Amino acid sequence: MLCQDCKEAESTVHLTQIVNNKKVVMNLCRNCAEKRGFHSPFENIPFPLAEFVTGMMDTGKSPAESKKVKSLLYKKCSSCGLTFEAFGKTGRFGCGKCYLTFGVDLNDLLRKIHGSNEHRGKVPSAATDSMKPLREDRRLREELRRAIEKEDFEAAAVLRDKIRELSDKI
Ligand SMILES: [Zn+2]
Ligand SMILES: [Zn+2]
Repeated sequence: MLCQDCKEAESTVHLTQIVNNKKVVMNLCRNCAEKRGFHSPFENIPFPLAEFVTGMMDTGKSPAESKKVKSLLYKKCSSCGLTFEAFGKTGRFGCGKCYLTFGVDLNDLLRKIHGSNEHRGKVPSAATDSMKPLREDRRLREELRRAIEKEDFEAAAVLRDKIRELSDKI
């Protein structure tokens, strides 16, 4: 899909916005998105992500590792049915719950990508900041797990709300 602003470059940034109570999806190339002042938390992901993930399988990883990657690709959002593979191709979540399904894996993956970027000494400094919500999400999930283990359901409910709130932000 071409960028809706310049109609020249391929759109890599897909933003859902609420304008006058209507859901508007904007498909922009990175330049135009920046011109409009948008910074997606995922803009540093090299898309298509699925190719990257498949590439990870081929780089002589252990069978266990490739199995893990494969099962990640076929992981599905329980709400809209989007697979991680499909997300990787478009870089766009299907619904609000997708983030809850894929957030942790995405975080892991980003760390790997980030790490390999670092290796080449080419890390956009914005990358670290845009990861903050993802890290926060991870921390909350860990707390949630512990609360459930302790059968502290009151705390679990609060944490669950926080995670939901955070995923709205992202
Ligand atoms: Zn453009
Ligand atoms: Zn979904």
